[in-house]
Amino acid sequence: KGGFNKVLQSIESIAVRYGAKFNYNSDVREIMVDDKGVATGIRLGNGDMVTSDIVICNADLVYAYNSLLPKTSYAKTLGNKELTSSSISFYWSMNTVVWQLQAHNVFLAKDYRESFDQIFKDLTMPEEPSFYVNVPSRIDPTAAPDGRDTIVVLIPTGHISDRVNVDLDLLVKRARNQVIETLEKRLKITDFRSMIDNEIVNDPRTWQNKFNL
Ligand SMILES: Cc1cc2nc3c(=O)[nH]c(=O)nc-3n(C[C@H](O)[C@H](O)[C@H](O)COP(=O)(O)OP(=O)(O)OC[C@H]3O[C@@H](n4cnc5c(N)ncnc54)[C@H](O)[C@@H]3O)c2cc1C
Repeated sequence: KGGFNKVLQSIESIAVRYGAKFNYNSDVREIMVDDKGVATGIRLGNGDMVTSDIVICNADLVYAYNSLLPKTSYAKTLGNKELTSSSISFYWSMNTVVWQLQAHNVFLAKDYRESFDQIFKDLTMPEEPSFYVNVPSRIDPTAAPDGRDTIVVLIPTGHISDRVNVDLDLLVKRARNQVIETLEKRLKITDFRSMIDNEIVNDPRTWQNKFNL
């Protein structure tokens, strides 16, 4: 019950019991390093400096080396490495239970092998996208009110790059239409759109801006 976030809450409460202090909504702008290359603390978005014996950084490696630590040639090398795919995600609260869906559902495109080239080489979303649908409320009653469902849709797509010019607003629109059309066709559902009460969308910009990925 409570989904993956419950794991985080449990780890937090154990850490607090052992004396840890969590500072949420504190943007780290810099990991301070002395002239011997030893990390000495962090500088926050509000300008505060926090000195410490040890700095453990859990942010994305490429971002941390390029944006938090002093510039090095290693940081540049990391920045040139091939990256994995990004994704467009829809988080839907449904006004009904969509019994045709299990807890985990994978919808593969006809030419799914070829479609990977469009994700990894062209850095965009395939013409016919494959996607994954998770229904947490199918196995966790706390995930939705009685008689309703929560649905997460994940559509793999290319990552943001200077190399290509992708209109992400248009891509999100196309992803939404194609996912709904596929669900309606393959699960024999009519007017799936009218079952969606609320929607949150994450796209490659969200991962970059909100999580520094
Ligand atoms: C769309 C998507 C779907 C995924 N699906 C799966 C899956 O099904 N199964 C699976 O095993 N893995 C999945 N992953 C991968 C999984 O999310 C990561 O491997 C995992 O979150 C990495 O955990 P982490 O704690 O190392 O880093 P993160 O979860 O990235 O945590 C790093 C934290 O640091 C914070 N942060 C970054 N920069 C700063 C800063 N400057 N100041 C302050 N805070 C900062 C971020 O906000 C974030 O909270 C998925 C990832 C994505 C993006």
